[in-house]
Amino acid sequence: MSEQFDVIVIGSGPGGYVCAIRAAQLGMKVACVEKRATLGGTCLNIGCIPSKALLQSSEVFHETAHSLKDHGILVDGIKLDLDRMQDRKGEVVAANTKGVEFLFTKNKITWLKGAGRIVAAGKVDVAGTVHETKTIVIATGSDSVPLPGVTVDEKRIVTSTGALELDEVPGHLVIIGAGVIGLELGSVWGRLGAKVTVVEFLDRILPGTDTEIAKSFQRILAKQGFSFKLSTKVTGATQDDKGVSLTMEPVKGGAAETLRADVVLVAIGRRAYTEELGLAEVGVATDNRGRVITDAHFATNVPGIYAIGDVIAGPMLAHKAEDEGVALAELLAGQAGHVNYGVIPGIVYTWPEVASVGETEEGLKAAGIAYNIGKFPFTANGRARAMGATDGFVKILADKTTDRLLGAHIIGPDAGTLIAEIATAMEFGASAEDVARICHAHPTLSEAVKEAALAVEGRALHI
Ligand SMILES: Cc1cc2nc3c(=O)[nH]c(=O)nc-3n(C[C@H](O)[C@H](O)[C@H](O)COP(=O)(O)OP(=O)(O)OC[C@H]3O[C@@H](n4cnc5c(N)ncnc54)[C@H](O)[C@@H]3O)c2cc1C
Repeated sequence: MSEQFDVIVIGSGPGGYVCAIRAAQLGMKVACVEKRATLGGTCLNIGCIPSKALLQSSEVFHETAHSLKDHGILVDGIKLDLDRMQDRKGEVVAANTKGVEFLFTKNKITWLKGAGRIVAAGKVDVAGTVHETKTIVIATGSDSVPLPGVTVDEKRIVTSTGALELDEVPGHLVIIGAGVIGLELGSVWGRLGAKVTVVEFLDRILPGTDTEIAKSFQRILAKQGFSFKLSTKVTGATQDDKGVSLTMEPVKGGAAETLRADVVLVAIGRRAYTEELGLAEVGVATDNRGRVITDAHFATNVPGIYAIGDVIAGPMLAHKAEDEGVALAELLAGQAGHVNYGVIPGIVYTWPEVASVGETEEGLKAAGIAYNIGKFPFTANGRARAMGATDGFVKILADKTTDRLLGAHIIGPDAGTLIAEIATAMEFGASAEDVARICHAHPTLSEAVKEAALAVEGRALHI
């Protein structure tokens, strides 16, 4: 007879492992099923963490090669040791995945190793043993969306997983898809010396982001050497000994063209992953995009089965998955777990970074909400000048009548950290004036946030 659990979480990504920890903290007997050899899911193994390790290393390389002389630091003979860079990335990943293993031991969470399949409500099969539980949490995440006619081999035609593992810098990297993952990985290989071309079906980059920010970001990336082919549809790819020929045509019709690439990265999005989970057999409903359908409390249509993270609707972000994991564990314990979907920051970890929270201008217009805008450029921020990082600006959107903060969009140095102030203020229902009246230390980048808040009332001081 196998052990009886209170909760079995299937998948150990940021949704699953955080849900498991919070449930254990609340006194439940918890197991987490993971089929990968290490814990942490997409995020720790092949997503957020390895990409940020390579972004960091490539940024240091690029800065050393191109910017140190501006500071009066002359370095001769800079060489890239890509093997070491990749090894370092592996060390960073291992430290994080082992950290989750430690947290499981600390919280007395059982790791059930292998693929989990739901055989009935309350029963999960892992490697031939059926484990019993009061509650099942599906946290199986997502994988890359394939593109018809472009067959991935993870060597020359890669998803983000292969793009994180390249053992040489491609001469020409063509990225299909101008979303966050494509632009981050394009930055990594571009900084290390690749020519980068981004092919995008839509007429803009970063769909869903504030359009003004996306346009400005595209100009900055172009200055860094990115080429963009927007409104262009990739129709096929053929490989030979030397590389890949990509065929493409304008979305609106017109002459087809061929682009040669050493490596092609397919980054057109991610989709919910529920393979061999037994959902159809147990009757768990999914939507037309394969996502598990849940109610506001993460319950599926089958009693006792819940779902969180990338496998359900909403932004595919690690912190969204984590917050859902915490909220669900608290709801299962009879508490009032809750996620505020209106205040989930989204960051692009390029240089400069792009960070957003709350509404975009387009969203407010569509909803008929009147708003004021406050903007402040980093060219007028003393600290940004001292850093030599003046590209970008802060843009704050506030309700025209009440001045309540509705959203913020930042393109600039450390935007991902700066946006947290606005997220905090929004959670407290603050107005732009509230942020403007807070004393911000000088000289810091955060003064640009204060100035943008002042600019909502047309009274920025330093411009
Ligand atoms: C290259 C890249 C960079 C990213 N960067 C960021 C970033 O900077 N910030 C951010 O917020 N998000 C980022 N993301 C997105 C982020 O990784 C996901 O939103 C997050 O991992 C989702 O968490 P999750 O717990 O829902 O699922 P996942 O992290 O996908 O974990 C699901 C786990 O379930 C396991 N699993 C699946 N089926 C079974 C089964 N039947 N039995 C057992 N185990 C199973 C899988 O092996 C996997 O380990 C990035 C993604 C990629 C690909």
